[in-house]
Amino acid sequence: MRVLAIGCHPDDLEIACGGTLRKYADQGAEVYMGHIANGCQGHVVIEPGPLAAMRTLEAERSGAILGAKEVHNFDVDDLEINSHDFAIMDAVADYVRYVRPDVIITHNDDDYMLDHTETSRIVTNGSFCSGISHRERKYEPFSSFIPVFFMDTLAGVNFQPTHYVDVTAQIDRKMEALNCHESQLKWMLDHDGIDFADMVKTCSKYRGYQCGAAFAEGFKPYNVYPRYSTKNLLPD
Ligand SMILES: [Zn+2]
Repeated sequence: MRVLAIGCHPDDLEIACGGTLRKYADQGAEVYMGHIANGCQGHVVIEPGPLAAMRTLEAERSGAILGAKEVHNFDVDDLEINSHDFAIMDAVADYVRYVRPDVIITHNDDDYMLDHTETSRIVTNGSFCSGISHRERKYEPFSSFIPVFFMDTLAGVNFQPTHYVDVTAQIDRKMEALNCHESQLKWMLDHDGIDFADMVKTCSKYRGYQCGAAFAEGFKPYNVYPRYSTKNLLPD
């Protein structure tokens, strides 16, 4: 099985579905991670150029802990993600053709900021366009109708999962991966007193309460024609 997860910022997948990605990998799936934004505006002191470079490395280290085969940086500057930018949509389509996933995970189509919701649209539309032959492309066309799951929103706001993945056995590695994003976590803790790791772990525990697990992550499918599947595509 091949899994493609594409988030907005370099740490978004870790936050919302890091345990699930690790569980896929534990069960032998090939996991590909991508982030559309380079994270260049995620710090009030470090300048965008050096920060983007730093965050690319943080995401790669984190991806290795989650068992990802690769972490792909689409390298769009923060706050400039636009679902009508066809260059980035084509880049995502080509990455889908390259990975040829059985399932795709991305942001919910409603979340706390525009870059996240635009990423959701870029990924669903890029997946659709992966099946279009007469579009400039590097790889052979692939299905336009791969099932997509939306991952949880930040702090679970306005998101009621229909599917849960028990990540109790993966929670420590999820947190270890999240902690690779030092420019975000350590800095917020030291300078703002915000314990972001605690929020992420608490959200996993909260989702766990909803489904009878110690820790869980929640999802809901992108239900459009014909992306439904008879297969159970999330890890048991
Ligand atoms: Zn984000």
